[in-house]
Amino acid sequence: MNLILLGPPGAGKGTQARMLAESHGLVQLSTGDMLRAAVAAGTEIGIQAKETMERGELVSDDIVIGIISERIDDPDCADGFLLDGFPRTLAQAEALDEILTQKNKKLDAVIEIRVDDEQLVGRIAGRFTCAKCGEGYHDTFRRPERDGICDKCGGSEFSRRKDDNEETVRSRLQAYHAQTVPLIGYYGESGKLKSVDGMLDIESVNRQIEEALAGL
Ligand code: ADP
Ligand code: AMP
Repeated sequence: MNLILLGPPGAGKGTQARMLAESHGLVQLSTGDMLRAAVAAGTEIGIQAKETMERGELVSDDIVIGIISERIDDPDCADGFLLDGFPRTLAQAEALDEILTQKNKKLDAVIEIRVDDEQLVGRIAGRFTCAKCGEGYHDTFRRPERDGICDKCGGSEFSRRKDDNEETVRSRLQAYHAQTVPLIGYYGESGKLKSVDGMLDIESVNRQIEEALAGL
């Protein structure tokens, strides 16, 4: 099964992607994670993307299309993948269609997670991640069971993203509304779109997605 998770920053795409990756044996492909890794490693792509990401704007279509096109060829993607944060523009969506056709793969569904902007600001401001395994947490909505210890791997170091500050969040939301929202119409027309209410708690959102997938 090949899926896209669509939604604004902070909607819960990464959270749900990790849950679905585990329950369905899919590989999570997050362009945000890949770009952050490139920035940390100081690669050519990382150098090109760093400042754009810090401003909360979208990096160029060519860069992310190139990254995804290569990654989808890896053997671990053969049994299914979950795109998290890609595509984010119509040009990326059209390129993805071409890539999938060329590689003889198909898209099964696009899950749109709907959350109001005001809720997103609070979600992003409270977000932190296990530095060892990448598990996602929130100061209020999803704390580790034992304070300071990751539920998944027992790690005790956590990190917060540099772009998770209020000013950058506003430009990321602007980019979402201007450049990514048109994809809802694009995938609506293709009949692949399944929208879920992302304002509910993490488990309830997960249940809605599982129900949508069961109906495929
Ligand atoms: P995205 O990948 O869409 O940017 P995340 O999955 O990182 O979003 O979620 C953003 C923050 O909100 C995280 O701190 C996460 O723990 C929290 N979160 C995710 N889903 C929910 C939810 N349904 N209700 C409350 N908080 C949530
Ligand atoms: P995310 O982790 O999905 O919130 O992405 C973090 C940042 O990476 C975004 O604000 C963009 O600057 C960049 N980015 C991630 N995915 C894409 C994409 N598909 N297209 C353009 N920029 C992206």
